[in-house]
Amino acid sequence: MHICETISATRQAILQARQAGKKIGFVPTMGALHAGHAILMRRAKTECDYVVVSIFVNPTQFGPNEDFARYPRTFEADQALCAAVGVDVIFYPTPELMYPKGYQTFVEVTEITKPLCGASRPGHFRGVATVVTKLFNIVMPDVAYFGQKDAQQCRVIQQMVADLNMPIQIEIVETVREPDGLAMSSRNRYLNPLQRHHATILYRTLVWVKEQIAAGQRNAHELEKQMALRIEQTPEARLDYAKILDYETFSPVETIEKKVLVALAVFFDQTRLIDNFLIDV
Ligand code: AMP
Repeated sequence: MHICETISATRQAILQARQAGKKIGFVPTMGALHAGHAILMRRAKTECDYVVVSIFVNPTQFGPNEDFARYPRTFEADQALCAAVGVDVIFYPTPELMYPKGYQTFVEVTEITKPLCGASRPGHFRGVATVVTKLFNIVMPDVAYFGQKDAQQCRVIQQMVADLNMPIQIEIVETVREPDGLAMSSRNRYLNPLQRHHATILYRTLVWVKEQIAAGQRNAHELEKQMALRIEQTPEARLDYAKILDYETFSPVETIEKKVLVALAVFFDQTRLIDNFLIDV
């Protein structure tokens, strides 16, 4: 496994694989790797001949009052997990390498970024689209893997790849959960035991919505109200959003009649957790 800290070393390692006719799979991450990341890496390993993982806590996707400085950085353990999965290259750049002095180019996806996390975290998806474009240009993968847990991020990347004619196949991988349903996240380690206990409210609320829809409930607004109420009644939890959107357009729906995204963002103190279900009636 190569650990590449420069762009030229990364390109060189991958070039050899590409020239040998290998299919290149890519998994972009911010590190603090867990079983959710591992499943993306394993999918890449199964479907591709050569797997590249990037580990980069991207400053441009964090707001000024967010957790960039304290985001967990666990490179040794990340490296061990990548090696165990059989990753071929870890690209591990510094912020200075990715955004040198004088940097001034950004990628913006305009519509699909407006609701949900785009509304709560201004500039977040501009940072995501920019860094993913840069990473795609460095790695030039055939296939890139993203987690459904970040549903809006998946849609942003798909839109960007289509709009900018990037010759990259995007694969979405389902959310990996803890045994009690909590979606795995690098941020779960911020939770104290009490918060961790109550954090299952995201999953439990999504399951409840799914059951309601299965039982015939089609009123999205009523469900959103009930979702919000469930979060507000949970100790330690503070609602950011509880929304049901059309999965294609990310616009609000009144009556649930096709594929919808049921999405939640909840704060536990400073820790912001997100989760979602895709429900097709
Ligand atoms: P991050 O390091 O949080 O930026 O995540 C890197 C990639 O892993 C993104 O595509 C995430 O959507 C994906 N990911 C994070 N958590 C999970 C999870 N619990 N299940 C599946 N994929 C995940």
